Amino acid sequence: MSTQRSLPARVFSVALLLAVACTSPPADPPRPAPEPVPAPQPTPPAPPLPAPADTAAPVAPFPTTDETFVVMVSFDGMRYDFLDRVPTPAFDRVAAAGIRAAGLIPAYPSKTFPNHYTLATGLYPANHGIVDNEFYDPQFDAVYALHDRETVEDGRWYGGEPIWKTAERQGLVAASFFWVGSEAVGLRPTYWKRYDEDVPNAARVDTVLAWLGLPPERRPRLVMLYFSDVDDAAHRYGVDAPQLDTAIAAMDVVLGRLQDGLAALEVADRVNLILVSDHGMAPVPRDQVVYLEDYADLSGVRVIDNSTQALLYFDGDEMELWAVHDALVGRIPHAEVHLKEELPRRWHYSRSRRVGEIVIAAEPGWMVASRESRPWRGVGMHGWDPYFRAMHGIFLAAGPGIQPGGELASFENIHVHPFAAALLEIEPAPGIDGRLDVLAPHLRTPASVRP
Ligand SMILES: [Zn+2]
Repeated sequence: MSTQRSLPARVFSVALLLAVACTSPPADPPRPAPEPVPAPQPTPPAPPLPAPADTAAPVAPFPTTDETFVVMVSFDGMRYDFLDRVPTPAFDRVAAAGIRAAGLIPAYPSKTFPNHYTLATGLYPANHGIVDNEFYDPQFDAVYALHDRETVEDGRWYGGEPIWKTAERQGLVAASFFWVGSEAVGLRPTYWKRYDEDVPNAARVDTVLAWLGLPPERRPRLVMLYFSDVDDAAHRYGVDAPQLDTAIAAMDVVLGRLQDGLAALEVADRVNLILVSDHGMAPVPRDQVVYLEDYADLSGVRVIDNSTQALLYFDGDEMELWAVHDALVGRIPHAEVHLKEELPRRWHYSRSRRVGEIVIAAEPGWMVASRESRPWRGVGMHGWDPYFRAMHGIFLAAGPGIQPGGELASFENIHVHPFAAALLEIEPAPGIDGRLDVLAPHLRTPASVRP
């Protein structure tokens, strides 16, 4: 793919932006974690892709002079407004040098796994297959769960093409440090890591910097990086807790460490930084849980509850389906009962066989659960309708390929994949839900972008 990035003088370099910096890499904050650990795992759709080894060799040698790089970082649970509650100089530098959205609208449900994989693929969850953190597939007759390593690393669960595979298919080297999908067999990029929440954030950054310091033929052009601290703190302590402020500040420090390190690299002025989160966060009092069994007999039903929504599977038993439906509709409080075919269209959620025939969606601030679920002990949650503003995440980006432009309106996270592809000057994956035109006006070299 050719490129003609003529951005000489104006190439405000990331170096500049990154120059400031953080000096001391802090130790990782304590990590509470009521929610299942987010981990990465992908899978290739069409052609079976070769599974790369952990620190394998390069894919295709590229000329080094005109390459662009993308480093995409996810701060799990970073709500759209969290950056405004404590000083965040590192995030501020990115916003000042590039663009910041009023919010990044997650796909439904606003959970970690579906949304990280949506960010990667540009597809709504019903179209990429990771429809929730936990769900059932009637064809596989198996349950996928984010805490189940076997399913997380099983490529058959993952549809679509994550951006790192899109890049490698077009000859680039890619890397992932804990992005959902990147651990799955068949979907692994050249460099990847098996999820381990105990890996200190500073070590994650240092590894990414080491990757970017490799010789050109082995150096990844795309790097995905993940941090969970904000999500952990918000679940455990709540959205107004000082511990959350501490976690946000820690993320700024770790971002500063990344900026400093990037600034010192040979490729400093060619790196585009994209900062995102998968969803926001809202308070949920411990006693605001509605138990499904209190309203319907679910003894013959497969129930998978994901706290803010429950997926009910009936295995073709229509009698049972209508019995449960009629028992719940109008009776269960603080939740909406949807037949799969009648889900809100804005959720784009009906098409997957992995979505139960009935979806019970709790209203914001409430949760739905089965009596068999483990008791909820947190005070912050997410997963509700993405049109609930508190579910919105962050989006900031800066680099030589991005036109500085201040604040943008909120947009859906399906559009991040084509944006990242454009910055890498490659074609996005075919058939995605996201569109390049949403962010194209903020590209510095729109002429190089193909329609
Ligand atoms: Zn979470």
